[in-house]
Amino acid sequence: MKFSKKGLPIKKLETLLKIWQKRLLLDNWNLSIEIIEFKRKDYKQSGDIKVFPRKKKAIVLLTKDPFRNEESVLVHELMHLILWDYDIFNEKLILGKSETKLKGSHGKYMKKLESTVDHLTKAFLKEYKTN
Ligand SMILES: [Zn+2]
Repeated sequence: MKFSKKGLPIKKLETLLKIWQKRLLLDNWNLSIEIIEFKRKDYKQSGDIKVFPRKKKAIVLLTKDPFRNEESVLVHELMHLILWDYDIFNEKLILGKSETKLKGSHGKYMKKLESTVDHLTKAFLKEYKTN
C-alpha cells in the first residue's frame, strides 16, 4: 500500500469479513479486501465489489479514507454479492431491447428472485432463530 489507511486497521477489517462471510452463508466464496482511493468526482464513494462469478471470487473495495461505518460498508457490499446473479440478470433484461429476449424471462426472473430471497431468509434465520 502506497498510502496510509485511516479508520479500522486492515487486520480488523479482514476479521469482520470472515465473520460476515459466515453469517451471510457465503462460505463457498473466496473473498478478500482491497483498500483503494476512489477517484470519482461526482460523489464520495465508500466501497465497491468486484465479482468473478465463475471463479467464485470477489474483492471488496474499501476507501482508504472512510467517512461511514466500515463494517456497514462491508456488509452492504456483501449484500450486493448475494444479489449479484439476480441483479445482473435484471440489468441485462432492462438494457436489452429485443422483444424475443423477454420471452420466458419472467420465469427465469422469478427463479432468481426466489433463490436470492431464500439465501437471505436462511442467513437471517440462522442469526435470529429463537430456541
Ligand atoms: Zn451499493
